[in-house]
Amino acid sequence: MRLQRYFNVAFEDSPAGLRRMVLLLYAAVVPPFVLLLCLVSSPGSRDAATLTVFALCVAAYVWVWARRTPTPSTWIFPAGFVPVACCGIAFAATGDAAFLAVSGAPVAWAAVLFGPRVVVSAWGTGVLACLAVTAETHGWAHGALNAGLYAVIQGLVGVVVYGKSWRREAAHLRVLQRDFNDIQLVLRLDGRLVDVNDRALREYGYTREEFLRLGIGDLRRDDPETARLQMTRLSAHGALVFESMHCRKDGTRFPVEVSARLFVEDGAPLCNSLVRDITARKAADDALQSTNARLAEERSRAAELAARADAANRAKSEFLANVSHELRTPMNGVIGMTGLLLDTTLDATQRHWAEVAQSSGEALLNVIDDLLDFAKIEAGRFDLEHIDVDVRAVVAGVEALLGPRAAEKGLDFDVCTDDDVPAQLVGDPGRLRQVLINLVGNAVKFTSRGRVAVRASVVSRDDDAVTLRFDVRDTGIGIAAEHLPLLFQKFSQVDASTTRPFGGTGLGLAISRQLVDLMHGTIDVISTPGEGSRFWFTARLSLRPSAAPPAHVETAEAPLPPELVGRRARVLVAEDNPVNLELALSLLRRLGMTADAVTDGEAAVRAVAAEPWDLLLMDVQMPGMDGLEATRRIRASGARGAEIVIVAMTAHAMAGDRERCLAAGMNDHLPKPVSTRALAGALLRWLPPDPAGARASVPAETP
Ligand code: ADP
Repeated sequence: MRLQRYFNVAFEDSPAGLRRMVLLLYAAVVPPFVLLLCLVSSPGSRDAATLTVFALCVAAYVWVWARRTPTPSTWIFPAGFVPVACCGIAFAATGDAAFLAVSGAPVAWAAVLFGPRVVVSAWGTGVLACLAVTAETHGWAHGALNAGLYAVIQGLVGVVVYGKSWRREAAHLRVLQRDFNDIQLVLRLDGRLVDVNDRALREYGYTREEFLRLGIGDLRRDDPETARLQMTRLSAHGALVFESMHCRKDGTRFPVEVSARLFVEDGAPLCNSLVRDITARKAADDALQSTNARLAEERSRAAELAARADAANRAKSEFLANVSHELRTPMNGVIGMTGLLLDTTLDATQRHWAEVAQSSGEALLNVIDDLLDFAKIEAGRFDLEHIDVDVRAVVAGVEALLGPRAAEKGLDFDVCTDDDVPAQLVGDPGRLRQVLINLVGNAVKFTSRGRVAVRASVVSRDDDAVTLRFDVRDTGIGIAAEHLPLLFQKFSQVDASTTRPFGGTGLGLAISRQLVDLMHGTIDVISTPGEGSRFWFTARLSLRPSAAPPAHVETAEAPLPPELVGRRARVLVAEDNPVNLELALSLLRRLGMTADAVTDGEAAVRAVAAEPWDLLLMDVQMPGMDGLEATRRIRASGARGAEIVIVAMTAHAMAGDRERCLAAGMNDHLPKPVSTRALAGALLRWLPPDPAGARASVPAETP
């Protein structure tokens, strides 16, 4: 079986296999040839001893060959052993020198075990023996001829068959021994070193002789105990890879990676350790670690910067709140006062101017609202409301708002809401209306003749939500294909020239897209220049369980309620801005209320404590005590303070401001600029019913 395996290996398809095959052929052919030579030279002595010794020699040869790997000592084996064995056979064949055959074998063994020098002497012995044998039987001249012939044949065979591979293997060995980049240590399992390569000599600084007196503990002076344990583990597992610290002769240390493997030589287990100096790798590791540490530092700095950016964002938001306040406060004066002016008796020119002033104020307010909305969305401080939505009312509100403008331009204006659009939905009606107003407003703005059509329909519906689609078509100027991708980006206008006929900030569609995103929908457009555009967006709104009563129904601004007019109520206004104060007082008086004013929070607290009031209109931002603090004090002050209705009338109109006012104890929140209608609506909501009834019309105030 084993032999069979060796033969298989011998014939494998590789240079080593080929070499082994040649060896085998050599073993099979040369001995019989030499034997034949001997028998021919002494034909009378074919005895059993000759054949036995011959058979033994061949068998020993094959066995020895098979045990060894094909190293130079293997291939030189036949060169030494076979001739000697054959000479021995020749002696045996002559009948008087059998001992020589036996003495030839140890020489061959020595050749196998100890290398070329012995082989040369064995070869010499063989040649001499050959010479002696033939000389004894046929005379010296014939013997010398035979021996010479034999030596030449052997030499040629050696050179032709083995010379090349011998040189190659010798070169390999030389590389392994001298030039191998890693250190190689061969140790016994008790740790004693038995062989090292040249790199080890260079690296550790010991001579070979010194090395062979050392144990592994001398190389690992820091942890000889671990070294011993590792030897034990190696003998248990057969292989081991680990890192440790080695010492040179001069006492310096260097980090190494050791790959140790057990092998058996002549029945004794040995450890072959490949030792790699990993100083450079360790340095690279250290560099990597410090890079990682630096990266971690950078990361934390980036986090810090992000936190700072966040803080800056918050500051931006606060700045916006202030800007909002500062812009809305004068706008309140402008729009409110113009409204009051329009309610007086004016001639046609004055009325026209006042109307232009009011619509300009409203346009400016829209721009302010757009900018603030956009900045809030950018700052991530935009939250949608979740209140009841009546989609029909929203669409109708948009129709009421923009229908007159479309009619002015002579456009057909079709608005429809499909029958299957549910009435009871929850979402943010204000933002829904904002998107719709933006799209329909653009449609009206960019269409000079033809038609604008708006349709609300259901796209899909499941148990707790419905996805609605709003289509806005127009027959206006349309948009070129190359401009479509820019449409929903901020500040982009198709016509950005200074001579463009249509105004606008270019923010409307960008805000609309962000709002639609927040409503879990999509917004898109198809358009043909000269023919018109079709914008649409979807929005997902929750279905309100039918049992739940509406929390707060958002509707289009209510008309001035006649039942309010003339109702007697005492209203206190806390407002520091004289224009806005005058406006509020004028509005209230126009609605028939008795109104008084204070200009800061503390005065409001005192006034509530001093007299009974039906309602307090409270500005939030005031010098000294602000409206929120004043409300908290009033609420905490007792029965009168607990009962009074407090309505915030403030330019603080950012998301969350309403909630802050309600949390402070107020009942309602009116963002500035406050229109007469909005104020009337709030009064109607909060004042107790008037038993005396109401008059039917609002008296025009004479200046
Ligand atoms: P703006 O406030 O300037 O109208 P928008 O974001 O609402 O900003 O619109 C951006 C641009 O898209 C407009 O300036 C206009 O060029 C184009 N646009 C929007 N809607 C229409 C439409 N219905 N028809 C033609 N062009 C439109």
